[in-house]
Formats: sequence, structure tokens, C-alpha cells
Amino acid sequence: MLRQGKLPNLAKLIEGGAFADDVTAVFPSVTAPAFASLLTGASPKITGITGIRVPRTPRNEFTILESASGFSPALQRAETIFTAAERAGRKVVSLHVPFGGEKSRLGVYLQGYSGTTGRDGVVHGRNARPQAATSWLNLPASEAPPLELTFTIGASLLLGLLIDDPADPQNGYDTLLVSGARDGREVRAILKPGAAGPGGDLLWSQPITVNTSAGQVATTYLRLFDLKSDSSDFFLYYTRPVRQTVSHPELLEGTNPTVRAFIGNGAWQLYRQGAFGRTIPNGGDGTAEARYLETVALVQHQLTETCRWALEQLPWDIFLAYTPYPDEAEHQWRGYLDPGLPGFRAELADRLRPLLERVYRSSDELLGFLMERRPENTVLALISDHGVEGTNKILYLNKILQQAGLLALDAQGRVDLAKTKVIYPAIDNGYLLINSTERKNGIVPVEERAELVGRVRDLLLAIRDEGRQVVTGVDDAQSDEAAPGIGGESGGDLYIDLLPGFRLDAKLNATEIIGSQEPHGVHGFNPIRASMRTIMVFNGPGIKAGERLRDARLVDFAPTLAQLLNIPAPIDAIGSVLQDALTEPP
Ligand SMILES: [Zn+2]
Repeated sequence: MLRQGKLPNLAKLIEGGAFADDVTAVFPSVTAPAFASLLTGASPKITGITGIRVPRTPRNEFTILESASGFSPALQRAETIFTAAERAGRKVVSLHVPFGGEKSRLGVYLQGYSGTTGRDGVVHGRNARPQAATSWLNLPASEAPPLELTFTIGASLLLGLLIDDPADPQNGYDTLLVSGARDGREVRAILKPGAAGPGGDLLWSQPITVNTSAGQVATTYLRLFDLKSDSSDFFLYYTRPVRQTVSHPELLEGTNPTVRAFIGNGAWQLYRQGAFGRTIPNGGDGTAEARYLETVALVQHQLTETCRWALEQLPWDIFLAYTPYPDEAEHQWRGYLDPGLPGFRAELADRLRPLLERVYRSSDELLGFLMERRPENTVLALISDHGVEGTNKILYLNKILQQAGLLALDAQGRVDLAKTKVIYPAIDNGYLLINSTERKNGIVPVEERAELVGRVRDLLLAIRDEGRQVVTGVDDAQSDEAAPGIGGESGGDLYIDLLPGFRLDAKLNATEIIGSQEPHGVHGFNPIRASMRTIMVFNGPGIKAGERLRDARLVDFAPTLAQLLNIPAPIDAIGSVLQDALTEPP
């Protein structure tokens, strides 16, 4: 896309700066560990963030089956660049960046992802059948009998009123009013139907408030993608309710409602489940994709407005913003775009590629917005946390361990720790855990570990699929030659390398060792794999223009940024300052 001129802002940033596109991420190459490492300059072994969920520690208090959220700042052990900046008296503003500033004094931190409650959803004629609207107060004018429907978002019961708006030239039902009570004066949103596509972005509601089951206030956005004029069906989408999570709530008072109502992700789950209509890979006509892309645009718009507000209204020395794109869309479509996967269909790839490119362009536009707004003499750095790769085969590791008698289930189908020596745990981080006696309920004595490792290695390396070796490497975190950054108290024992096209699955009692699935984009693999490599760009004062960086690692980001900002590097950083990026040596 860069070469074809489709990402003009990124091209400009790269041209005027120092750039690497083969940055080594961390193992596992997923968001939580990658962010912990890029913000601290320390490896997962040091940060303790070894997955989206991580094994609980200390090991003697928890079994190999227990885990905690890897996004928890309380579990992240290394100093972040936020804290290092604050030590140097700098003000930080962070928008929805993982591990952003729970312990901050000087900074302003928005953390929408920790405020998400529940799922997004669809209300349509089959799950909310319109009925005659009786017992309403202040019914609005309508040329057809108003019809009522009821639905729930979060813990709030909402009422919809279908009317034929006399001011709307459309014949038949043409408007959906959404209200918290049977009263036309309590209407919170007036929705006009419109197919997803050009102009659709104007049909979203302003954020409306709903209650969560815990009695808190959350916000959601509504979009009426379809309404039949005879009221026989309609299609109403709502974004997942999100509570406001900000370090200084008073700062948000009086701001644009969009800034206060975080969204954070598009409707990827509903799209994948087929709830947006048949997807293109399943024979759809593109309606589902157009709807999904509108949800992506709304998320990017919300983030852009938050950036605009924060850049203009808040004092900052360091400003960080996160976007989930293109990652979220890569998961949907990368599997269909990889010509190396068996079953690749060129005509399908040709239809999906432009859609993924639109998502990339939306991120390029956000970048352009930040470039345009950046004050003079500002360093602009861009980094992505991991790559992505198409997969369509699954390896059920626990099935092999069960067959070999290394993993046992009880009568209820649960893991029997008294008979289990090793497991691929449900946290699915690309590593096995050995049920050693240093862990709660462990059974493998330290002196038997080496023999067990040898046995597991032989077992896994022997797996074949159509003659090909599926597990291509087993790396023992405790060996002297272990890959850098793996293991540690919260890490795994044996890290698995797989043949491209395969992903791991932690299912117990799978029917087979190897399964197939619809292709999709996956990451988490060994970070030295080419597809897991990622990008890093520095642009601004003190940085060479047009410099191509070699051998950069995710852990070099924080030390290099610290150097450019003239602040101390985070104290636990093991990464290096990328000297080649700098115009003059320090
Ligand atoms: Zn992802």
C-alpha cells in the first residue's frame, strides 16, 4: 500500500524520519505483552506480562490452571515511560493505551477499554416485534399508527417508537424514536434508516446513556441500518456500552459528548458471527462488510475527536494515543488474503483486499490528523505491537499430551492435576506449563523436569500433517540457549514454534490432533517469524530523515524515545537506544 501511494501520511512520516519495518516483537506476539514491553523497554520475562491472560503468581500459591488479565497494570512489574517522564517532571496525556498511568500524579489518562461493559448487539424485527403503541404520553405526529418495540441495552430497558414522520417524504414507516419511557418527551435518539455506505456516517445517533448491571452509567451509539416501510422488519445496531474511565473526570465536563463516549472496537464479533448479514466469504453481497466498516469509521472518528480535544485543551509534554486498527480488521480478513494458504481463492481476496485497505487508510487519516496538529519541534513516533498471519489449521496440543498420558482429565472432564505433568493452558499464549512441585498441586519434581522436557519435545516434534512437521521448535525457557525474554515467574516453560498456517488451541478432549477452520488472521507466534515483525517510525528534531533502521526490537522503542525526549530511560529497560536514528550522538 505504501509503494502504491495509498498511505500518503505514513509515507511522508517515513520519508522525513527513521524507519524500521522488521521490528522484532515479543513472545507471545500479542497486544498486552507487546504494549508492556514497548512502554517499558523490558521483555515479558521482566514485565511479567506474558499474554492477554497470564499465569497467576507466586507459583507456590496458584495452580497451572489459574490466570489473571494481562492488561492489569497491577501485574506489570517494570517502570513505564509514563512514570519515567513524570520522574523528569513531564506531563503525559495517554488516550486508551494499555498500562496507561494508574499511578500517575501529573498525567491525564483515559482508559476506555477498562470501562467496557457487555457486548454490542443488534435489535431487529424477530427479537423485538413491533406492537401497537398504547399508553404513551405525548405521541409525536405520525401518518401511520405508531408502533412500539422494547429492547435492553446493558441493564436499561429502552422503548422504540416506529412512526411515519409527516415531515419525511418517505412513504410508510421512516423513523425510529428511542426513549427511556413511554413518553414522546423522553426521546433520546431520532433515527432515520439508511444502508451502510456513503453518508451513512451521518445517521449514527449521538451517544445515549444506559445503566450497567452494576448500576453505573455507560454510553452507547445507535444506528438504524434498515427499516421496512411496512414495519415488517428493521435492523438496529448498538455499540457496546462503555463507562467513562479517566484519571481526572472533571476535565471531561462540558466537552463534546463524542469525546466522553468511548467505543474502542468495531462490530467484529457480530460481523464474524454473521449477525450483520451473510459475509462475502460466505456468499454475501457486501452489505455485512459495509456495515462493519461503518462501525470502524465511527471508532476512528471517536478517537480522532478525543485526540483533537486532548491536543488542544490539555497541557502535555508527551501525548500517546492507541488505535485498534488495522489489527481488528486484519483478524477478519488476512486469512483470505494469504496466497500461501491452501484453498486460497483469488476472486475472494480481490473483493476483500480493498475493504482491508480502507481500514488501513482510516488509520493513515488519523496519523495525518496528528501530523497536521503536532506543534513545531515535536517528535512523532509510530509503533505497532505485532504482525499478523493467515491461518486455517489448528493444532490441539492437549490431545497429544492426553494420548501420551501426560495430561489427565477427571470424570467431569476437568484437568486432574494429580495426574497431569504438562498442559497447554487455556490462556493460549504459545507456551506449555509444567506442573512442577514448585507450583500449587504440582507433581513433577525438579529433578525429573529435564527428562519430561525431552519427552515432550520428542512427542511434539514428531507431529506430521500431510508429511510436514507441524511443531518446528520447542524452546525451554530454563535452558541456557533460551530465546531472549521468554520465561520468568509469570512466563511459560516450553515455547512452541509452528509451521505457518497453523495455530494452537487449548481445547481439552479434542476429537483429533489437527483440525481445520475458516481462514483468519492470527498472531502470537514466535516474534522472529517474518509475519510477526512490525513497524517503528521516529520523525522530528534530532532524527535522521530517510534512515532505514536495522535489527530494531520492540524493547528499543522506550529507550530511544526517552533519549529523544531528553528524559531518563525507564529503569527496567533492557532495550537499546537506536543510535542510527539520531542525528548526533548523545
Ligand atoms: Zn490482534
